Amino acid sequence: MRGRCPGIVAVLVILIAIAAGTPAAWADDSADAGQQVVAAYTTVKGSVRPDPGVSVAASKKKLYDMAESYIWAAIPPDCRPLVSRLELFAAQTSAEDAVDGTATPNDDGSRWTLSFDWGEAESAVVERNADDEAVFDEVIAHELGHILSLKSDQFTDDDSRGTYSDSDGTFRKSAYLNAFYQDFWKDRYPGWTDKDGDQEQAAALYGAHAQAFVTEYAATDPSEDFAESFASFVLQTKPIAATERSKKIRFFYAYPELVKDRDFLRQNLDSAN
Ligand SMILES: [Zn+2]
Repeated sequence: MRGRCPGIVAVLVILIAIAAGTPAAWADDSADAGQQVVAAYTTVKGSVRPDPGVSVAASKKKLYDMAESYIWAAIPPDCRPLVSRLELFAAQTSAEDAVDGTATPNDDGSRWTLSFDWGEAESAVVERNADDEAVFDEVIAHELGHILSLKSDQFTDDDSRGTYSDSDGTFRKSAYLNAFYQDFWKDRYPGWTDKDGDQEQAAALYGAHAQAFVTEYAATDPSEDFAESFASFVLQTKPIAATERSKKIRFFYAYPELVKDRDFLRQNLDSAN
Protein backbone atom coordinates (compact mmCIF):
# COMPACT_ATOMS: atom_id res chain seq x y z
CA MET A 1 0.00 0.00 0.00
CA ARG A 2 1.29 3.38 -0.89
CA GLY A 3 1.78 5.95 1.80
CA ARG A 4 -0.22 9.06 1.27
CA CYS A 5 -0.33 12.41 2.86
CA PRO A 6 -3.14 12.08 5.39
CA GLY A 7 -4.08 15.71 5.16
CA ILE A 8 -5.26 17.78 2.30
CA VAL A 9 -3.32 17.03 -0.80
CA ALA A 10 -5.17 19.27 -3.09
CA VAL A 11 -6.20 22.72 -2.28
CA LEU A 12 -7.32 25.58 -4.39
CA VAL A 13 -7.36 28.97 -2.89
CA ILE A 14 -8.65 31.74 -4.97
CA LEU A 15 -9.15 35.35 -4.95
CA ILE A 16 -12.30 37.11 -4.48
CA ALA A 17 -10.42 39.57 -6.59
CA ILE A 18 -11.52 38.59 -10.09
CA ALA A 19 -14.30 41.13 -10.20
CA ALA A 20 -12.12 43.81 -8.72
CA GLY A 21 -9.33 43.13 -11.17
CA THR A 22 -6.76 43.01 -8.40
CA PRO A 23 -4.02 40.39 -8.23
CA ALA A 24 -4.93 37.03 -6.82
CA ALA A 25 -4.20 36.38 -3.18
CA TRP A 26 -3.47 32.82 -2.26
CA ALA A 27 -3.13 31.02 1.00
CA ASP A 28 -1.09 27.95 1.79
CA ASP A 29 -2.79 24.60 2.08
CA SER A 30 -2.99 24.44 5.85
CA ALA A 31 -6.13 26.51 6.16
CA ASP A 32 -8.45 23.59 6.88
CA ALA A 33 -8.15 24.36 10.58
CA GLY A 34 -10.26 27.41 9.87
CA GLN A 35 -13.16 25.52 8.32
CA GLN A 36 -16.39 24.30 9.82
CA VAL A 37 -18.42 21.72 7.93
CA VAL A 38 -22.02 22.96 7.62
CA ALA A 39 -23.41 20.16 5.44
CA ALA A 40 -22.14 16.77 4.33
CA TYR A 41 -23.36 14.11 1.93
CA THR A 42 -22.21 10.57 1.33
CA THR A 43 -22.43 8.89 -2.03
CA VAL A 44 -23.64 5.32 -2.31
CA LYS A 45 -23.82 3.62 -5.69
CA GLY A 46 -24.33 6.83 -7.57
CA SER A 47 -26.86 8.42 -5.25
CA VAL A 48 -26.13 11.15 -2.75
CA ARG A 49 -27.57 11.20 0.77
CA PRO A 50 -27.20 13.65 3.62
CA ASP A 51 -24.76 12.41 6.25
CA PRO A 52 -26.89 12.02 9.38
CA GLY A 53 -23.77 12.58 11.48
CA VAL A 54 -23.67 16.24 10.53
CA SER A 55 -26.54 18.28 11.95
CA VAL A 56 -27.76 20.89 9.55
CA ALA A 57 -29.63 24.10 10.28
CA ALA A 58 -33.19 23.39 9.10
CA SER A 59 -33.54 26.85 7.62
CA LYS A 60 -30.52 26.24 5.40
CA LYS A 61 -31.08 22.66 4.33
CA LYS A 62 -32.76 23.47 1.02
CA LEU A 63 -29.98 25.84 0.08
CA TYR A 64 -27.26 23.35 0.94
CA ASP A 65 -29.08 20.73 -1.08
CA MET A 66 -29.18 23.09 -4.06
CA ALA A 67 -25.41 23.44 -3.93
CA GLU A 68 -24.92 19.69 -3.51
CA SER A 69 -27.18 19.00 -6.51
CA TYR A 70 -25.31 21.47 -8.65
CA ILE A 71 -21.91 20.00 -7.76
CA TRP A 72 -22.99 16.38 -8.15
CA ALA A 73 -24.72 17.02 -11.47
CA ALA A 74 -21.52 18.52 -12.86
CA ILE A 75 -19.28 15.58 -11.94
CA PRO A 76 -18.76 13.36 -14.99
CA PRO A 77 -20.09 9.79 -14.70
CA ASP A 78 -16.61 8.25 -14.79
CA CYS A 79 -15.52 10.45 -11.85
CA ARG A 80 -18.56 9.84 -9.63
CA PRO A 81 -17.42 6.43 -8.33
CA LEU A 82 -14.26 8.17 -7.10
CA VAL A 83 -16.19 10.60 -4.88
CA SER A 84 -17.31 9.20 -1.53
CA ARG A 85 -18.36 12.42 0.15
CA LEU A 86 -19.34 16.01 -0.55
CA GLU A 87 -18.96 18.69 2.09
CA LEU A 88 -19.80 22.34 2.36
CA PHE A 89 -17.79 24.33 4.86
CA ALA A 90 -17.97 27.78 6.33
CA ALA A 91 -14.61 29.50 6.10
CA GLN A 92 -13.49 30.97 9.37
CA THR A 93 -10.66 32.92 7.85
CA SER A 94 -10.81 36.22 6.03
CA ALA A 95 -12.00 36.13 2.43
CA GLU A 96 -8.58 37.21 1.14
CA ASP A 97 -6.84 33.96 1.98
CA ALA A 98 -9.80 31.60 2.20
CA VAL A 99 -9.57 28.10 0.81
CA ASP A 100 -12.21 27.57 -1.87
CA GLY A 101 -12.18 23.83 -2.18
CA THR A 102 -10.28 20.71 -1.33
CA ALA A 103 -10.03 17.15 -2.61
CA THR A 104 -8.90 14.74 0.08
CA PRO A 105 -8.29 11.04 -0.53
CA ASN A 106 -9.51 8.35 1.83
CA ASP A 107 -6.85 6.30 3.57
CA ASP A 108 -6.32 3.88 0.70
CA GLY A 109 -6.54 6.62 -1.95
CA SER A 110 -9.39 4.90 -3.79
CA ARG A 111 -12.13 7.48 -3.12
CA TRP A 112 -12.24 11.14 -2.30
CA THR A 113 -13.96 13.78 -0.24
CA LEU A 114 -14.71 16.98 -2.11
CA SER A 115 -15.22 20.07 0.05
CA PHE A 116 -16.37 23.50 -1.05
CA ASP A 117 -16.71 26.86 0.58
CA TRP A 118 -20.38 27.41 1.37
CA GLY A 119 -20.21 31.20 1.07
CA GLU A 120 -18.99 30.88 -2.48
CA ALA A 121 -21.44 28.09 -3.29
CA GLU A 122 -24.32 30.17 -2.01
CA SER A 123 -23.32 33.19 -4.04
CA ALA A 124 -22.79 31.09 -7.18
CA VAL A 125 -25.58 28.53 -7.02
CA VAL A 126 -28.30 30.20 -4.95
CA GLU A 127 -27.81 33.88 -5.73
CA ARG A 128 -26.48 33.29 -9.24
CA ASN A 129 -23.80 35.94 -8.98
CA ALA A 130 -22.08 35.66 -12.36
CA ASP A 131 -18.55 36.34 -11.12
CA ASP A 132 -18.87 33.83 -8.34
CA GLU A 133 -20.40 31.29 -10.72
CA ALA A 134 -17.23 31.50 -12.77
CA VAL A 135 -15.01 31.11 -9.72
CA PHE A 136 -17.06 28.27 -8.27
CA ASP A 137 -17.02 26.38 -11.57
CA GLU A 138 -13.25 26.78 -11.71
CA VAL A 139 -12.95 25.32 -8.25
CA ILE A 140 -15.09 22.30 -9.18
CA ALA A 141 -13.03 21.69 -12.34
CA HIS A 142 -9.77 22.23 -10.45
CA GLU A 143 -10.60 19.69 -7.75
CA LEU A 144 -11.68 17.14 -10.37
CA GLY A 145 -8.33 17.72 -12.05
CA HIS A 146 -6.69 16.63 -8.82
CA ILE A 147 -8.82 13.52 -8.50
CA LEU A 148 -8.17 12.48 -12.09
CA SER A 149 -4.41 12.97 -11.75
CA LEU A 150 -4.03 11.50 -8.24
CA LYS A 151 -6.38 8.51 -8.39
CA SER A 152 -4.95 5.14 -7.45
CA ASP A 153 -4.39 3.88 -10.98
CA GLN A 154 -1.97 6.75 -11.68
CA PHE A 155 0.64 5.45 -9.23
CA THR A 156 3.20 2.68 -9.28
CA ASP A 157 5.27 0.97 -6.62
CA ASP A 158 8.19 0.84 -9.05
CA ASP A 159 10.21 3.99 -8.49
CA SER A 160 13.14 2.88 -10.61
CA ARG A 161 11.92 4.24 -13.92
CA GLY A 162 12.56 7.93 -13.48
CA THR A 163 8.94 8.99 -13.61
CA TYR A 164 7.66 11.95 -11.66
CA SER A 165 7.10 11.50 -7.96
CA ASP A 166 5.85 13.80 -5.25
CA SER A 167 4.61 13.46 -1.68
CA ASP A 168 1.64 11.42 -2.97
CA GLY A 169 3.84 8.73 -4.50
CA THR A 170 5.54 7.73 -7.76
CA PHE A 171 3.55 8.09 -10.94
CA ARG A 172 3.26 5.52 -13.69
CA LYS A 173 4.88 6.34 -17.00
CA SER A 174 1.43 6.65 -18.54
CA ALA A 175 0.05 8.81 -15.72
CA TYR A 176 -1.39 12.18 -16.71
CA LEU A 177 0.76 14.00 -14.19
CA ASN A 178 3.93 12.24 -15.26
CA ALA A 179 3.32 13.23 -18.88
CA PHE A 180 2.50 16.78 -17.81
CA TYR A 181 5.66 16.95 -15.70
CA GLN A 182 7.88 15.59 -18.48
CA ASP A 183 6.44 18.09 -20.97
CA PHE A 184 6.35 21.20 -18.85
CA TRP A 185 8.43 20.98 -15.66
CA LYS A 186 11.34 18.59 -16.04
CA ASP A 187 14.64 20.50 -16.22
CA ARG A 188 12.76 23.77 -16.75
CA TYR A 189 13.16 25.51 -13.44
CA PRO A 190 16.57 24.60 -11.94
CA GLY A 191 16.07 26.60 -8.74
CA TRP A 192 12.61 25.22 -8.03
CA THR A 193 12.16 22.63 -5.29
CA ASP A 194 9.00 21.04 -3.95
CA LYS A 195 8.29 23.06 -0.82
CA ASP A 196 4.83 21.89 0.13
CA GLY A 197 2.82 24.61 -1.52
CA ASP A 198 5.14 27.52 -0.75
CA GLN A 199 3.37 30.56 -2.24
CA GLU A 200 6.42 32.81 -2.09
CA GLN A 201 8.26 30.45 -4.37
CA ALA A 202 5.18 30.24 -6.60
CA ALA A 203 5.02 34.02 -6.87
CA ALA A 204 8.70 34.17 -7.81
CA LEU A 205 8.36 31.42 -10.42
CA TYR A 206 5.26 33.04 -11.87
CA GLY A 207 6.98 36.41 -11.90
CA ALA A 208 9.83 34.99 -13.96
CA HIS A 209 7.66 32.85 -16.28
CA ALA A 210 4.19 34.40 -16.36
CA GLN A 211 3.39 33.15 -19.86
CA ALA A 212 4.03 29.57 -18.74
CA PHE A 213 1.19 29.41 -16.20
CA VAL A 214 -2.56 29.95 -16.43
CA THR A 215 -2.55 31.54 -12.94
CA GLU A 216 -0.01 32.39 -10.28
CA TYR A 217 -1.32 29.55 -8.17
CA ALA A 218 -0.47 27.15 -10.99
CA ALA A 219 3.20 27.91 -10.35
CA THR A 220 2.94 26.26 -6.91
CA ASP A 221 3.97 22.80 -8.14
CA PRO A 222 3.26 20.39 -11.02
CA SER A 223 0.10 19.06 -9.34
CA GLU A 224 -1.46 22.51 -8.89
CA ASP A 225 -0.32 23.47 -12.38
CA PHE A 226 -2.10 20.39 -13.69
CA ALA A 227 -5.32 21.20 -11.80
CA GLU A 228 -5.31 24.86 -12.80
CA SER A 229 -4.55 24.03 -16.44
CA PHE A 230 -7.26 21.36 -16.39
CA ALA A 231 -9.78 23.94 -15.15
CA SER A 232 -8.76 26.24 -18.01
CA PHE A 233 -9.10 23.32 -20.43
CA VAL A 234 -12.63 22.74 -19.17
CA LEU A 235 -13.82 26.33 -19.07
CA GLN A 236 -12.01 28.02 -21.93
CA THR A 237 -12.19 27.57 -25.67
CA LYS A 238 -9.19 25.75 -27.12
CA PRO A 239 -6.32 28.25 -27.32
CA ILE A 240 -4.21 28.61 -30.44
CA ALA A 241 -1.33 30.70 -29.07
CA ALA A 242 2.20 29.28 -28.99
CA THR A 243 2.69 30.20 -25.33
CA GLU A 244 3.61 27.61 -22.76
CA ARG A 245 0.32 28.08 -20.91
CA SER A 246 -1.66 27.50 -24.10
CA LYS A 247 0.34 24.33 -24.70
CA LYS A 248 -0.59 23.21 -21.19
CA ILE A 249 -4.28 23.68 -21.94
CA ARG A 250 -3.94 21.85 -25.27
CA PHE A 251 -2.12 18.99 -23.48
CA PHE A 252 -5.46 17.60 -22.28
CA TYR A 253 -6.93 17.33 -25.78
CA ALA A 254 -4.62 14.35 -26.39
CA TYR A 255 -6.75 12.30 -24.00
CA PRO A 256 -10.21 11.43 -25.42
CA GLU A 257 -11.52 10.47 -21.98
CA LEU A 258 -10.62 13.90 -20.63
CA VAL A 259 -12.27 15.61 -23.59
CA LYS A 260 -15.37 13.62 -22.73
CA ASP A 261 -15.16 14.82 -19.13
CA ARG A 262 -14.72 18.37 -20.43
CA ASP A 263 -17.85 18.08 -22.57
CA PHE A 264 -19.86 16.79 -19.64
CA LEU A 265 -18.65 19.49 -17.28
CA ARG A 266 -19.35 22.23 -19.82
CA GLN A 267 -22.90 21.01 -20.28
CA ASN A 268 -23.52 21.21 -16.56
CA LEU A 269 -21.50 24.18 -15.30
CA ASP A 270 -23.49 27.39 -15.58
CA SER A 271 -20.55 29.65 -16.40
CA ALA A 272 -19.68 27.50 -19.44
CA ASN A 273 -23.12 28.09 -20.95
ZN1 LIG B 1 -5.37 22.37 -5.93
